[in-house]
Amino acid sequence: MNKAPWYQPYVDWFWLTKQEYDVVQGEGTMESLRRFRWVACLMVPLHLAMAILLDAYHAPAEHPELQVWASLVGRAHWTAAALVSVCGVAAHYCLRQARASAAAITLQILVAIAYIYLGAYLSIADLVANAGAGLSSFMLICIMFGVLSLMRPAISVPLFFGAYLVFAYMLRQAPIAPMHNNSLNIMAFFSPLLALVASVMVWNQFAKAVMLRRQLSRSNQALVAQQRELAFLAAHDTLTGLINRREFMRQAQQELNRAVRATVPTHCVMVDLDYFKTVNDVHGHPVGDAMLQHVAAVLRRGVRSTDTVARLGGEEFIVLLPDTARQGACDVAEKLRLLVRTEPLVYLGVALPMTASFGVSGTTQGQKVAIECIYAAADRALYVAKQLGRDQVQYAVPEPSELAAPPA
Ligand code: GH3
Ligand code: MG
Ligand code: MG
Repeated sequence: MNKAPWYQPYVDWFWLTKQEYDVVQGEGTMESLRRFRWVACLMVPLHLAMAILLDAYHAPAEHPELQVWASLVGRAHWTAAALVSVCGVAAHYCLRQARASAAAITLQILVAIAYIYLGAYLSIADLVANAGAGLSSFMLICIMFGVLSLMRPAISVPLFFGAYLVFAYMLRQAPIAPMHNNSLNIMAFFSPLLALVASVMVWNQFAKAVMLRRQLSRSNQALVAQQRELAFLAAHDTLTGLINRREFMRQAQQELNRAVRATVPTHCVMVDLDYFKTVNDVHGHPVGDAMLQHVAAVLRRGVRSTDTVARLGGEEFIVLLPDTARQGACDVAEKLRLLVRTEPLVYLGVALPMTASFGVSGTTQGQKVAIECIYAAADRALYVAKQLGRDQVQYAVPEPSELAAPPA
């Protein structure tokens, strides 16, 4: 067996981290552009104010070099105000898209390059004119981008390394007193380095937070789906998809309560398949299951969408008929009986006939009855239907002893 080379874990770590960064990149760019949009709102007036102040500046007669400095820096601020406005508007348009496009990533990088170059230019202008601010513009802008702009190391390393090279070159070309060169060069090196360290740390934290948030959102979605499935299972019969006995009793009681207030009648039809056991015995349980699904579909199709069909258990079903009086309920039961009888299950090309017995019971207008009473009466009617030879509809009135008020 080939042994993995010693550096394999590092290679694996690199690819894994790269994949993670690829996933986070888009969100990082969008967040950076969002931050930049704010920065632009703040910086455009500031650049304009600086430009106007510097245009109005009059250097003292003994320092004419300051007039040159004011004109150079003033022009830089005019340019910056225009550039930041354009980039701010571009960022705004990129942010209107749902995802970060290649243009958005390019804009993020271009903004950083332009601003860091502006910092370098302002610092050189200050140094040349001995105007006092020295390296601070370059340093501040480097660190600002290191902290605010979310850049993966593949972007931040070349960016800040390039910033150092360009600034070091500008320092060498600028007419600056040689006695300052060493300290300036050291600071020119450390400013982008510090910014880079800050940038990598901020990016890493951002990437971890995004990954964690996504993981959380995924587990949350799975939990919600599981909860929905559990709620469905608690109220439904998995074989037929109909609501189960518990849910039926709840819905039926609610309907009965409503019927009392609306002074309308309500009826229930209990259905029990005839000699269903023989289907299982002769054809096997899978065919029995298919028969139950078939009858459930027939019953569902045979009633109105406002009626409720439930599976009580085994081969017994029940139908709730709101706003329906005795005659109407018996008509519906008769219709369902004919449907079950005339629509056999066709299993592997063979028609398997089926009949069912029906027990009907319910309330008259505004009658206050618990669902358990109607259920008991319908069950009695069903028993009579079975006794009288099956495949028929029977009716039973809830008995006075069964006519109790529904539980509060
Ligand atoms: P009757 O006409 O008197 O109602 O006779 P029956 O055979 O329909 O009634 P019985 O109560 O004797 O048998 C009901 C059968 O239903 C027994 C049971 O194995 C079967 N059964 C109950 N639940 C399921 C199910 O989910 N799938 C299948 N395949 N069979 C079931
Ligand atoms: Mg039964
Ligand atoms: Mg039966």
